Amino acid sequence: MPIHNPNPAYGANLEAFAGIPTFMRQPASRDLNGVDVAIVGVPFEGGATSFRSGTRFGSRKIRELSLIMWGYNNLLKVAPLDVLTVVDYGDVAVVPTNIRENIEAITNEVSTVLEAGPTVIALGGDHSISFPLLRAHAAKFGPLAVVHFDSHSDTTQGDIDHGTPFRQAIEAGLIDTDAYIQVGIRGPLDNANDIIAAERLGAKVLTIDKCFEMGIPAIIQSIRELMGERQVYVSLDIDSVDPAYAPGTGTPEVGGFTSYQMLQLVRGLNGLKLVGFDLVEVSPPYDHGDITAILAANLVFEFLSLLAIS
Ligand code: MN
Ligand code: MN
Repeated sequence: MPIHNPNPAYGANLEAFAGIPTFMRQPASRDLNGVDVAIVGVPFEGGATSFRSGTRFGSRKIRELSLIMWGYNNLLKVAPLDVLTVVDYGDVAVVPTNIRENIEAITNEVSTVLEAGPTVIALGGDHSISFPLLRAHAAKFGPLAVVHFDSHSDTTQGDIDHGTPFRQAIEAGLIDTDAYIQVGIRGPLDNANDIIAAERLGAKVLTIDKCFEMGIPAIIQSIRELMGERQVYVSLDIDSVDPAYAPGTGTPEVGGFTSYQMLQLVRGLNGLKLVGFDLVEVSPPYDHGDITAILAANLVFEFLSLLAIS
């Protein structure tokens, strides 16, 4: 009978500042037998050519800050690490200089993990990694319904980088465009057609203005109606959160969600058929007091909680 540990990260016989920082002190393991969830780092930033760099350090920093979290989710009423067998798989062996090689490496490694059974929660890295992650997931589950939190549509025309993964994924048939929603889109755009282009590709776009006009419960309702019974992939770009709350990111856009609103939105996915997650664009060199990484770690804890109650 395993000993109930009410405090799996912070209290696991080590203080938060000590030891090897796996995600919430879960075992670092590639033995996926009987594993429910694999935390997989994808420290690749070769797709982020637009402004500030540093997301290659995101995966590790999120793990480090996960060590200050206690284990019980009082809103969702679950201690996810008591319910789920979770491992920290470590990182995909990325090559910084070759995006095409990385797309293959990420697709192949994550496919291998998914074939072994666990649900993957991927820690980026820049948003280009969602394209290979969607490839791996669609190979297992078929075209996916997608909830995409971001301040950018990431459906720009052009070669693969962190501004194009969702166009690439749609064109490759990886996304079920009857159930693809972008939440939080804002900022000065390239041109008047940016959002129209995303909508033409099939995305339902909730701009931040629309989001604040609707309020959080109505956004959640809108997401749930669109997703229905489909299998859902969640992609969370940390720049969907206001840079006042999440400054550690490559392309910040002012006027976004608060940390609390982002937590509410993620908790609102409760009950959907969730099959995959990524959290991307955390750039520790631009962070202050680790506040972005702490938020990211907490959002991953919410992902784990959603899986634990499903
Ligand atoms: Mn993005
Ligand atoms: Mn973005």
